[in-house]
Amino acid sequence: MLPSVTSMPDGSVQDAGHAFGAARRVVLKIGSSLLVDSASGDVDSSWLAAMAGDVARLRAAGKAVIVVSSGAVALGRRRLGLSAGVRLDEKQAAAAVGQSMLMQAWSTALAAHGLVAAQVLLTREDTERRRRWLNARATVEALLALGVVPVVNENDTVATEEIRYGDNDRLAARTAQLARADLLVLLSDIDGLYSADPRRDPGAIHIPFLADLTPEALAAAEGPNVRTGVGSGGMVTKLMAARIARSAGCSTLILSGAAHAPLMALERGARATLIAASGTPMTAYKQWIAGSLEPAGVLVVDNGAAAALAGGKSLLASGVSDVQGGFDAGDCVRVVGPSGLLGVGLVAYAASDCRRIQGRNSREFEALLGWKGPGVAIHRDDLVLTS
Ligand code: GLU
Repeated sequence: MLPSVTSMPDGSVQDAGHAFGAARRVVLKIGSSLLVDSASGDVDSSWLAAMAGDVARLRAAGKAVIVVSSGAVALGRRRLGLSAGVRLDEKQAAAAVGQSMLMQAWSTALAAHGLVAAQVLLTREDTERRRRWLNARATVEALLALGVVPVVNENDTVATEEIRYGDNDRLAARTAQLARADLLVLLSDIDGLYSADPRRDPGAIHIPFLADLTPEALAAAEGPNVRTGVGSGGMVTKLMAARIARSAGCSTLILSGAAHAPLMALERGARATLIAASGTPMTAYKQWIAGSLEPAGVLVVDNGAAAALAGGKSLLASGVSDVQGGFDAGDCVRVVGPSGLLGVGLVAYAASDCRRIQGRNSREFEALLGWKGPGVAIHRDDLVLTS
């Protein structure tokens, strides 16, 4: 049995509606069972139209929105007349067919609100290999800055079993981490977490808030693990996703997507479960840089750069006076000033490139490297000062 409510260490209980209102960057995960009409096998376009309205309302409220949408395999299967449980290569073929149908549906639905959709296909390597991860992050940032709505899915056409995320709940959590979102919304076929399976146990109590994700909470979720014919997730995968999000400083909201415009329903008081984050996305990210990565080299910087870093600026190549060690773009390096260690950060260029651009202005990078790249040696968001 799960407790009906758990509170934060200070005794406070957070509320789904409030967390939703306060969020600045939201990842919205939508499963196949909501998007694809089980009777016809086509996109449920009236549900999607209402969902696009929800996205537009979030945008109008000043929030950045990233959608993680399933449905490629289900739509492709139907178009090709393939049954469920097909071979991997057939499933990949189905995804190749269905993904374009899925994007067409999203583009049309968002265009009705004047919004532009972008297809972003990720594989697990894109979030696990730091260099690819930095590239994916830069692209997502650029899309958001341009006011576009990224619509993310797993790149099922090339993802084999051993390199798959496996389910879009996990993909959505990794996307939230990548984008440093502060809220992950998992639309489900149930309105959150219960103390027992509400479909079997009439005494099951709805849980509005979890301050932490204990092993007991994960075990209890195996009861209400409701599966439908189309999607691949259950409540356990949702909690696993919430665990990833939580450690990335992102709260998770599990709510039912059965109603049209479920986010509007939430604002009007619909039930949901909120799983609190620990910390903020930026502190979690910086803890990860400082705590989990082994520095692979050193950038020695001059007094001017040391002062700029202390003032919260990024590290410019012009302030780098020496490059030690061999490292790749995205690796962790130490930053050392004239009076000692200043901090650690993720370097934007490989060691060989850093040696070419050290002491130089970013206007010269193109001529020196043949490409410009990110322009700074270490972005301030990727830097943790220790002194
Ligand atoms: N990526 C799969 C699809 O688009 C779905 C995986 C999932 O829903 O967990 O069909």
